[in-house]
Amino acid sequence: MLDVKKIRLILELREAGISDTKILSAIEKIPREKFIPENFRNQAYDNLALPIGDNQTISQPFVVAKMTQLLEIHQNHKILEIGTGSGYQSAILSKLARRVYTIERIKNLLIKAEKVFKDLKISNIVSKYADGNLGWKEQIPFDRIIITAATNQISKEISSQIHEGGIIVSPMVNNNKQIIMKYKKINNVLISEVFDDVLFVPNLSGTE
Ligand code: SAH
Repeated sequence: MLDVKKIRLILELREAGISDTKILSAIEKIPREKFIPENFRNQAYDNLALPIGDNQTISQPFVVAKMTQLLEIHQNHKILEIGTGSGYQSAILSKLARRVYTIERIKNLLIKAEKVFKDLKISNIVSKYADGNLGWKEQIPFDRIIITAATNQISKEISSQIHEGGIIVSPMVNNNKQIIMKYKKINNVLISEVFDDVLFVPNLSGTE
C-alpha cells in the first residue's frame, strides 16, 4: 500500500516541477515512514507536513524536494542544515552529497533522528544539539546551507560560513507570509531570488 502511494507521490512531485532524477530517486529510497510517529505512518507518502512531537513537523515532500533542487547539490558537497527535526531532509541530502552537518535545538527530536540515521545505516550525517543560527564554525566553509524553519533574517554567522559561489536556501518571513528564498554568495555578497510560498515552524534562538 505504501509502495503504491510512494509511486503516486513521485509522479506528483515530477508534475510539480521536480525534474532532478537524483532527488526523485533519493525520495524513493528513503523510507519517510521511519521519520514519522506510528499513528501517522499510513500518511507517510501523502504530500503533507505531519506532526513529529514537540510542536514540530516533518516538512511536506514537495517542499523537501523543491528546496533540495534549489540547492544544486554536487556529490562532493559539504552541507549544513539548520533544523534537523525528524531527520528526513538530512537523510535525503545524505544521498546526494558527501557529508551533511545538521543542527537541532530540541534535544528530544535530535535523539530520535539520530536513532533513525543509525537504523538506516546512514553514516555521512553528523549532528549536534545547538542553536543553528550560530552555524558550525569548526566545519567551515560549507558549499550549501539549508534552513528548515521560518527565518526573519539570515544571521551573520550563517552568511559568513558559506563558501564563495555557495547557495543558502531558507523559508523567509515576509509580511504575513513565508516564501522560499535562494541566496548565492557572489563577491562576498548574498544575491537573493524568491520562490514558492510555504509554511514552516519558526526559527527560534537558544536550545530546549
Ligand atoms: N528538516 C526537518 C524539518 C523540521 S521542522 C525535517 O525534515 O523533519 C524545523 C525544525 O527546526 C524543528 O525541529 C525546530 O526545533 C528546529 N529549529 C528551529 N529553530 C532552530 C534553530 N535556531 N537551530 C536549530 N534548530 C532549530
